[in-house]
Amino acid sequence: MEDPFGHHISYLRVSITDRCNERCRYCMPDEEQQWFDRAEVLTYEEMLRVIQVGTRLGIRKVRITGGEPLTRPGAVDFCAQVAALPGIRDVGISTNGTLLTKPLADGRTTAEALVQGGVRTANLSLDSLDRASYFSTTRRDLLPKLLAGIDAAQDAGFGSIKFNCVLIRHQTERELMNLIMFAREKGALIRFIELMPVSTAEVLREDSFLACGQAKKLIERETGPLIPRPDYKTNGPASYYQIPGTDQLIGFIGAMTNFHFCETCNKLRLTCDGKLRPCLGSYLEFDLREVLRSGCSDDELADFFLHVVARKPKEHDFRGSYQPGRRMIAIGG
Ligand code: SAM
Ligand code: SF4
Repeated sequence: MEDPFGHHISYLRVSITDRCNERCRYCMPDEEQQWFDRAEVLTYEEMLRVIQVGTRLGIRKVRITGGEPLTRPGAVDFCAQVAALPGIRDVGISTNGTLLTKPLADGRTTAEALVQGGVRTANLSLDSLDRASYFSTTRRDLLPKLLAGIDAAQDAGFGSIKFNCVLIRHQTERELMNLIMFAREKGALIRFIELMPVSTAEVLREDSFLACGQAKKLIERETGPLIPRPDYKTNGPASYYQIPGTDQLIGFIGAMTNFHFCETCNKLRLTCDGKLRPCLGSYLEFDLREVLRSGCSDDELADFFLHVVARKPKEHDFRGSYQPGRRMIAIGG
């Protein structure tokens, strides 16, 4: 599948739930959540069918996300079913990591079951290593659970573990080096993500936004100039650098300040309520659930995919008129 700007679409992010056991301020600022009714959320069977049709059109990589995907019962089995679909080469999960140690009925940890089910990569949110700051950001005192989850992920043997840290002014600055050293200790990549206006308009304020460029400068004060690693590519928009004198890589995901951010976009998003979205930072979304539940054929579903891809915008509109219309938690980060 190719969009009008030559983006080759091979990556589908699938949000399997809008629910979460944390309440990150930048993601879902309101404590009172209006969750989707169960009937509004696609069943696993429906999601599998959509992904399967996607594979016919060139989808090769799927990332399972949410909300917190591991809060949905059956998530581990679903991941394994996705990984087993012919045509799928890579399955990853984005998680806050706090449920990775949870034992399944057969005694395995959730992390082990994910790896054994064929999930290759785990992207773990890690905004702070300080318990009080972690609590203030996520509104849950779950840092110890996350740290145990990180160990469980390492023991389970994921092919790659990445930490994602959202840059928050007046908070992340003082933790940058600690976070990098922690990632180094764990043999993991860490990426710093600029705040995006994806939940409510108030999230992105002058006094909360910390640009990647500013974070990079602060890091360089400690390390000397970072070494650009344009040769290092993952399946996303991060720019990678190496810490001098080490083999530690760090990434910056600068949706707001990097004007080349969308050039290599290869993604579509399926929301948990069955909307196919061509871009995170655009209002465009197309109701796949209605089509799916109207008894359509696989060919009709494939046509729907192509219709959405043909409408993929050239770039996101976060710097323009975009005001969040839907919660990040529903779209899937
Ligand atoms: N619950 C999982 C987690 O926290 O990793 C998966 C879903 S979460 C929505 C996916 C990613 O989106 C996380 O790394 C989170 O930090 C990021 N995110 C959420 N809200 C954001 C915002 N306003 N700006 C930038 N990144 C955001
Ligand atoms: Fe939950 Fe992840 Fe959003 Fe935090 S970022 S509230 S952990 S979905």
